Amino acid sequence: MDAVERAAALREYADQTAICTTCALAQGRTQVVFGNGDPNADLMFVGEAPGYHEDQQGVPFVGQAGKLLDTLLAGIGMTRAEVFVANVLKCRPPGNRDPQPEEIEACESHLFKQIELIKPKLVATLGNFATKLLSGRPAGITRVHGVPQDVVLGGNAVTLYPIYHPAAALYTRAMLTVLEQDFARIPELLGRAVTPAPVLDPEPEPERELQLEPAVQLGLF
Ligand code: URA
Repeated sequence: MDAVERAAALREYADQTAICTTCALAQGRTQVVFGNGDPNADLMFVGEAPGYHEDQQGVPFVGQAGKLLDTLLAGIGMTRAEVFVANVLKCRPPGNRDPQPEEIEACESHLFKQIELIKPKLVATLGNFATKLLSGRPAGITRVHGVPQDVVLGGNAVTLYPIYHPAAALYTRAMLTVLEQDFARIPELLGRAVTPAPVLDPEPEPERELQLEPAVQLGLF
């Protein structure tokens, strides 16, 4: 499949997904948040689930965590247009609660199909839910962040790269440093020249659409 055919296939799959009613989250959503970015990206990020703003706008990572994701990408000389960003769940859980096992099971085929079509070289999983689903292992993000794993996803050999969810750095300052360090390895894992990372905003605003509970309880790490 060439780049144009791949983009068309992904658009067609997005159209099918837009009417998904496989799980109960369909009832409360404004819209399905399929994912966005380059359908031919070498690098794909997989987060947890849409929040309030994502549900409203139909685009993943547009809230505070998304702004931090953009900043972290800029730190390694990349932009959102060069990557593809998706979530484990395509619909917003009520009140931004954790994804439930039956919701993950109902939704996972969408993510696997996206990976099959996009064929990224590197899949960076943001936080526990994406990491556990795509590694197929129970080890949490605290243990495995920053350690690339060779896996087969969507029928293709892929490097899985677990990193903390950017929302974790909105609650815990030390996490920002860890995230920056883990992001700094991405160019090398993609086989690209490394761009020095600039200093990030030291005091990001808390994410308003997430409940202000300890990040551990949010399943972020
Ligand atoms: N957090 C996520 O995991 N995904 C989004 O799209 C936004 C916030």
